[in-house]
Amino acid sequence: MNAQTATSIPAYAAPTAGAPLERTTIPRRPVGEHDVLVEIKYTGICHTDIARARYGLGATFPMVPGHEIAGVVTAVGPGVTEYRPGDRVGVGCMVDSCRRCDNCRDGYQQFCVNGAVETYGSTGRDGEPTYGGYSTHIVVDQDFVLRIPDGIPLDEAAPLLCAGVTLYSPLTHWKAGPGKKVAIVGLGGLGHMGVKIAHALGAEVTVLSRTLNKKDDAERLGADHFHATSDPATFTQLAGTFDLIVNTVSAELDLDAYLSLLGRDGTLVNLGVPPGPSSLNMFSLIGGRKTLTGSLIGGIAETRDMLDFCAAHGLGSDVEVISGERINEAYERVLAADVRYRFVIDASTIPAA
Ligand code: ZN
Ligand code: ZN
Repeated sequence: MNAQTATSIPAYAAPTAGAPLERTTIPRRPVGEHDVLVEIKYTGICHTDIARARYGLGATFPMVPGHEIAGVVTAVGPGVTEYRPGDRVGVGCMVDSCRRCDNCRDGYQQFCVNGAVETYGSTGRDGEPTYGGYSTHIVVDQDFVLRIPDGIPLDEAAPLLCAGVTLYSPLTHWKAGPGKKVAIVGLGGLGHMGVKIAHALGAEVTVLSRTLNKKDDAERLGADHFHATSDPATFTQLAGTFDLIVNTVSAELDLDAYLSLLGRDGTLVNLGVPPGPSSLNMFSLIGGRKTLTGSLIGGIAETRDMLDFCAAHGLGSDVEVISGERINEAYERVLAADVRYRFVIDASTIPAA
């Protein structure tokens, strides 16, 4: 695409909430003073993409999902100092924020009190809709572009921009590391990155999954232990065990049962949102001074740290690369939990509409 003028580029979009994704064209703005033009190579399919395409959840339509973007810089604005054409870069869940509030200043743009600008389905500070990575190019302010180290293949890097940082942020914030017992609940796109990162941080890692089906996979990914939560014995056997439990599933959880697995001062972090309000017996927190909390993706600086950490430890996502025409089929397979562990769209297969 031409860097000087607004350009129409090919993409896959959901025309309305609940409709299948179809080929279309979308506008990209000209490359401004501080902008980076990225030729997209791969984009991961995140559960959030599917939920927003199906149910809207505040998104604007037509919606081009995709916030796990990996590609190569092809042009930069005159004020760009950090990137040059040819650089390997990524774009995650945010493309802008107010930059003035306390949270932005502290590097937690995801908690911007004025609302971070999401990579898709949102409205940019220029008043134009944002379109995500199921497309061939994207124009992003340099402050929200992330360098992908050479050691990580771009297809395996794409899911790190959401799934990777969503696990790296709580695991490092709550100090998973040597001598710490960490449990990851659910072994999907998020959970498999949680196992890899927690293991690389040096923690003793347990996977808690509904059945024993993924036991061999979990061990290959770095888990030390694996237990089925459908077996009531798991909850008596592991009572009081963990320093940190990271829950990656969005289904409703028996919070009292999971809190009982924490040791004194242990923390249960939720990354998903169950459909309705949750309840618990307050004694589950009082007995053992336990913490129930949540976490949302990660800030830009944390995301940069995460990419460097993953490169240093040889970590990427386990991916299945698909062509653009298979996106709707991939959505069905994600909903059926039939992916190990992330679908990634090869952007070179997105044809002009
Ligand atoms: Zn995501
Ligand atoms: Zn802010």
